[in-house]
Amino acid sequence: MTSNKIMIAVLVLMLSFNFLLPLTVSYAAPLDNLAQTLTASTVSSSSSGSSGGGLINTIFSFLFDKILGPLLHLGSSSTTGSVPTTISPSGSSANPPSNVDSGGLKGKVIVVDPGHGGSNPGAVGNNVRESDINLAVALKLQDQLTQAGAKVIMTRSSDHTVAPEGSTLGQELAARVEQAESNHADLFISLHSNENSDNSIQGAMTFYNSAQSSPVALIVQNALISATGANDKGTSQANFYVIRSTSMPSILVEMGFVSNGQEAVKLNSSDYQNKIALGIRKGIVQYFSQK
Ligand SMILES: [Zn+2]
Repeated sequence: MTSNKIMIAVLVLMLSFNFLLPLTVSYAAPLDNLAQTLTASTVSSSSSGSSGGGLINTIFSFLFDKILGPLLHLGSSSTTGSVPTTISPSGSSANPPSNVDSGGLKGKVIVVDPGHGGSNPGAVGNNVRESDINLAVALKLQDQLTQAGAKVIMTRSSDHTVAPEGSTLGQELAARVEQAESNHADLFISLHSNENSDNSIQGAMTFYNSAQSSPVALIVQNALISATGANDKGTSQANFYVIRSTSMPSILVEMGFVSNGQEAVKLNSSDYQNKIALGIRKGIVQYFSQK
């Protein structure tokens, strides 16, 4: 009996609804429009040109909220407040995700070579020294690669030359190559920062010397760009001593330009350095997974 009363009440409601409304309203509105109507019930429709729009909206809101909404399991809250938001960890996290590609570098020996150091600061611009940036990123990369299972050897871990101070540049570079050779490294990666007299130039690029190093250069460059959003200056073949004289695959990454004001600020920030390290790690893991 109670249900009959409800049915009658609904019929009366529907009849009065039809009576109040002209026949221009379509009942076949798609569900997403319905949902929009539900969430926008307090906002008058700008597309309604009729002077009775406010009343119609009010009646609609009532019907949808009290009858159609519950029937269709549509509530205002379901389209506005309760959509779960996934917050993905950014590369800037102090604790980078260790479960991602963890172990992907197990058994690999990787030599990380922060360019310059000690009496040789490398490029200097905008109060940023290349040797400092290179070392800061290298230490973060050491953590990243170690987490991924690699055995990491640093040519330097603090602000000093690799060969004894006062050595020639040739001796300094040879000392770096010697570490890679004597440890039978699977990969040698040298980190540098760039400069140019045109201070509008910015971006990252990766160099290789031999054909065997071309694939890893490309993969690391792409991963670095996608992690940092830096201007992609691509990969190039080059004759730099450290990548020419190492027998294993070896690359030299120019992470950005200290001569560019914007990029110098980024390179000097721990947040951006983390992104660089994470990007390079991803590239290296991808490279070894494809070998
Ligand atoms: Zn350099």
